[in-house]
This record gives sequence, C-alpha cells and structure tokens, in this order.
Amino acid sequence: MRTAIAINPRHAAHDEPRHVEQAARLQAITAALNASGLRASLLEVPARPATEEQLRAVHTRQMIELVRWSATRPRSWIDHDTYTTSASWDAALMAAGTTIAVVEAVVGGSARNGFALVRPPGHHATPAESMGFCLFNNIAIAARHAIDHLGIGRVAIVDFDVHHGNGTQDIFYEDDRVFFCSTHASPLYPGTGAEREIGSGKGRGTTLNLPLPHGVGDAGFARLFDDVVIPAIRRYRPDLILVSAGYDGHWADPLGPLTLSVAGYAALTRRLMAAAEEVCRGRIVLVLEGGYNLRALAASVMACLEVLANETTVVDPLGPADEPEPDVSALIARMRQNHPLLAGQNVP
Ligand SMILES: [Zn+2]
Repeated sequence: MRTAIAINPRHAAHDEPRHVEQAARLQAITAALNASGLRASLLEVPARPATEEQLRAVHTRQMIELVRWSATRPRSWIDHDTYTTSASWDAALMAAGTTIAVVEAVVGGSARNGFALVRPPGHHATPAESMGFCLFNNIAIAARHAIDHLGIGRVAIVDFDVHHGNGTQDIFYEDDRVFFCSTHASPLYPGTGAEREIGSGKGRGTTLNLPLPHGVGDAGFARLFDDVVIPAIRRYRPDLILVSAGYDGHWADPLGPLTLSVAGYAALTRRLMAAAEEVCRGRIVLVLEGGYNLRALAASVMACLEVLANETTVVDPLGPADEPEPDVSALIARMRQNHPLLAGQNVP
C-alpha cells in the first residue's frame, strides 16, 4: 500500500507576502515534491472542502461566522498576526476538508499512511477563536471526524511544531478519546503547554506537555520520544496517530529557538511510524503546521514523506546544528514520576 498525500488546491490566494505564513511555503514544498522522483509513487487523494457540520463539531458558530465575514473583505486581520483575504474562507474550508480526505484514505485502507499538505495551519485555533496564523483547527476537525464517522475509538495527536498546540489542547482537554502530546519551546508563543497541564475531568491524563528549553535538538528529541512520547502512546493504545507536523523547530527557522535538523525530523517520523505499526496497524497521518525557512521546510517535509514511503535514504541538505544542546534528563525524570500515563496511574 502506498502513502497518501493531498495538497490544498485553494491555498495560494490566502497570502500576505510580508507575513511569514505565506503561500510561498506550500509552493516550495510542491516544487520540491515535483523535482523529486517520489511523487509518482504516492497516492494523490482528491482535495475537498470541509462541510460546516464538520467545522461545527469543533468550533463555535460565532467563530466560524467571523472567518466567513472577514473573507468578504479584500484583507482583514482577526488578531495582530492572523490575516484573511477574500480567498481565506475557501482556503480554510479546503485545508480542513483535505486533512479529512487523507485521514479517510488511511482509515479506509486505500493508503498505508499519509501527509496532508495544507495551509492555513490549524493547531492554534481554539473552539472559539482563530489565532496564531490559524483559522480552523484542521487536525482537530479530522480527529473528530474519525471518531464520529469512521469508527475510530481513540486518536493520539502528537504535535512537534515549535509552538504549543494550544487550540488542539483546548478542544480535547476534557475528552478521553483523544490523547494530545506536544513538544514545544518554552518560553515562546502562545505561552501555554506547562508540564502541569495534563487534561481534566474525563480527560485527566490524556494531555501531555513537554515544554523545552531553547536549544534542544536532534539528541534531546530522540530521548524525549524514546522515553516519554512513544511509551505514552503505547500505554494509551490509539486506533490512529495524527501528527501536527510543524517544521519551525528546525535550527534555521527564523521563529523557532530549537535546533532540530532535517535528519532529526525524519528520525522522529520513523519512531512514530514504528509506534503506529505496533499499536494501530501503521495508521499515521502527518498534517502540516508551521515552518518558515522555505529551504528547511521543503527539505524536512520531503524527508518525512520519504520515511512514510519507506525510502531508506533521506537527504539532509542543510546538515545538523552546530550548537551544544541543553540536557533534558530532569524533564524526562519528572514526566516518568508525575504524568498519569507514565507513572502507572489509572487512565481512561
Ligand atoms: Zn509553529
């Protein structure tokens, strides 16, 4: 079985050339994909817009109407860093629907795994608010769709974007059907994602946050995944793994203070794929979030796609960071001692 991809065909006119979250991002990825020999071996899933019912499963009516109204104007700002254009309503619906389409291909068994190449990104969008370059929460909408309509009982969402996925966390904070696990630099926008945020009510123990000191890179991430993220996934036993794949943790990224490399992202994807093989028949879908150095972004997406497609050689044209990394041992020890999924406590 092949790896599925879908590219949001309506993203280009949701653009602001002076903003880092610009159409050139997905264009750089598409150009790299076209230049590689990989595209022919992938299953291209038709993109389609999300329905308003699918949005409503995650977002308030007021928030949806604000995005629709903003897009009646040539250019508008929902907050100081989240723009819309007259094309943004279509682009945002298509980003969410395209994510759903890739998840359906994987859950339905026509693809082995997949990557939704979409923008605008989604993980900062909360139930009631578009923010942080995100209009609708694509990955959360797809997770809810999988649970409500595709017979999926439990979803693990791993978010390795350099920023905390506050929107996804908020949406599922009290929901034991979704395990949300985020690695992110701290301090950094949006300021949430502390270790003590572990979910509440029925969802207590199904949120796991790893706030990282600036400078953590390939070595630290490898340890955090081996000692915390993957064991937590094993314990939770999801039926599907979704990944908020942001590449602004790359050392060359202008926004992120972490030091991951292209090869480092490939190694994380390999670990997540192995976990998916172990717990959910290999069902894993990556969903594009951030990443603002165009070269690092395109190379990292290509490397992760090559891993998903079982290519053995991964090219890292930018190489590793040349800084020493801070030690993450204390963070790992605290997680093992305190987080319900790792400390042997009863969890949903
Ligand atoms: Zn980000």
